[in-house]
Amino acid sequence: MEQYELIWKYQQVDMELERYEKEMRNNGNRKELIRYRDFLLEQQNALKKIESDVDIMSDRMEALVDEVERLTKSVSDIRSQLSTNPPQNHEKAQELVSTVQKLLAKISRYDGEIAKLRKDADSRDRMQREVRVRAAKARAEFDRIKAIYDEEFKEASKTLEQLKQKVAAESAGIDKSLLEKYATIKRHSSPPITRIREGRCGGCNMQLPAADMNKIRTGEPYVECENCGRIILVK
Ligand SMILES: [Zn+2]
Repeated sequence: MEQYELIWKYQQVDMELERYEKEMRNNGNRKELIRYRDFLLEQQNALKKIESDVDIMSDRMEALVDEVERLTKSVSDIRSQLSTNPPQNHEKAQELVSTVQKLLAKISRYDGEIAKLRKDADSRDRMQREVRVRAAKARAEFDRIKAIYDEEFKEASKTLEQLKQKVAAESAGIDKSLLEKYATIKRHSSPPITRIREGRCGGCNMQLPAADMNKIRTGEPYVECENCGRIILVK
C-alpha cells in the first residue's frame, strides 16, 4: 500500500482516539466533580476571609477592653482624689467633674463599640458554621460522585488503551518522517490529511493554485495546502 493511503487509514483510528479522549473529558460526572471542587475551594476561601475578619475584630476588641480599663482607673483615681484631697475652689472642682464626665462618655462609647464587635463576632460564628455545613455536604456529594466516576474512568481507560494500541498498530509501515509531519500539521490543522474536493482543499476549502493542479495532472498522488498546511490526497 502507498504511504499516503496508509496514513489516511492511520488518521481514521487516530481521529477515533481523539474523539474518545474528548468524550472522556466531557464526561458528566467529571464536570460535576470539577464544579464541586471549585465550590469547595470557594468555601475554603470564605472561611479564610471570616477567620481574618475575626482576627482583626478580636485585636480591636482587646485594645478597646484595655483602653476601657485604663479610663476606668483614671476615673476612680480622680474620684478618690476628690474625697481624700478635695479641691480648694469651685473652679478646680468644676474642672475635675468635667474631666470625669468626658472620661465616662469615652468609656460608654468604647463599651458600645465592644458590644457591636461582640455581635459581629457572633454573626461571623454563625456564618462560619453555615459555610462548614455547606462544605461538608458538598464534600460528601463530591466523594459520592468520585466513587462512580472512578469506576467509569477505569472502564474508559481500558477502551482508551485499546484505541491507543490500534493507533500504534496502524502506524506500522508508515515512514517516521511522514508520521512526524502528520503530528506537526495536526498541531494547527486537524485532521491533518484531507482529500481534494472540486479543486479545493478539503480541510480549509482554499482553491488550489495552478501549479498544484498541474502536479496533480502529471500524476502526483498528493499536494500540500499553502493555506492550512494539510496534506491533500488526490485519489
Ligand atoms: Zn487547506
